[in-house]
Amino acid sequence: MVLAELGQKIGQALKKLNAASVIDDKLLQEILTEIASALLSADVNIKYVIKLRDSVKTQVTLQMNSDGQSANGVATVRKLIQRTVVEELTAMLQPAENRPYEFKKGKANVVMLVGLQGSGKTTTCTKFAYHYMKKGWRVGLVCADTFRAGAFEQLKMNAAKIKCPFFGHKKETDPVKIAEEGVNFFKKEKFEIIIVDTSGRHKQEAALFEEMQQVQQTIKPDTAIFVMDSSIGQACYDQAQAFNKTIRVGSVIITKLDGHAKGGGALSAVAATQSPVVFIGTGEHFDDLEPFEAEGFIKRLLG
Ligand code: GDP
Repeated sequence: MVLAELGQKIGQALKKLNAASVIDDKLLQEILTEIASALLSADVNIKYVIKLRDSVKTQVTLQMNSDGQSANGVATVRKLIQRTVVEELTAMLQPAENRPYEFKKGKANVVMLVGLQGSGKTTTCTKFAYHYMKKGWRVGLVCADTFRAGAFEQLKMNAAKIKCPFFGHKKETDPVKIAEEGVNFFKKEKFEIIIVDTSGRHKQEAALFEEMQQVQQTIKPDTAIFVMDSSIGQACYDQAQAFNKTIRVGSVIITKLDGHAKGGGALSAVAATQSPVVFIGTGEHFDDLEPFEAEGFIKRLLG
């Protein structure tokens, strides 16, 4: 189920509340079952579906006891259910204890992007650079992806298109060395945001995780951003957890949300890493990157 459809289904379930003159256990159960099945078919991990259901049930039971079934009570319960669903979904996307790294003026902010091959990492590096260049930051791009043939040319060409300074060595095979040289180069030149594109692999494997760790230990980025393809569904959850175990993921960018992506998997991946989503990718162009705001996203989703 695609994301828009998920929103529609949950929205429809919640609308049943508007028509009801009495909200009893049976109706509540029916609505929660509909919401849960919509979330499950959008690939949200079952753990979070159960948490959402329990949280709504607990809150509503408390409210029902004090308000009974008066007309006013129904309206209050209705709002409570709607609010709790929004809050729970928002909380999934915006873990309270982890805030995204904030770029600071007057220093070199080093960002490392990690993710599997094909996730959209290189494209996202360029979009990310472009976003901050438009806001007036001095941004540099470093290609430390020595694994994928063509990554160097791709990033170099992208950088030229957006007029962003680029650092890379076509023939160098040591990603740690390039990452270090590139970061030092841009630091010396007083760049403010230094974006390091790292190698991916087709799947999670030891070589990738080792390389990521070495790059991270050497360049000591201010933050590592995990780039995840939203179209991989339920696999998102395990993938995000594996990355997060190897290097501390500071935040997440979810790509390809413009397609027929099952957004739910991505939602649970965020819950798995307890890292906030900072941007979403909505197309192949360099300006197809949207800053992410969890509550607004969920409210729009539910219509
Ligand atoms: P990498 O291997 O992770 O560096 O992946 P790339 O950056 O080369 O991207 C792989 C493919 O996904 C390319 O064809 C990109 O144009 C495409 N892509 C990346 N981000 C998005 C997105 O947000 N939406 C869509 N539709 N395609 C994307």
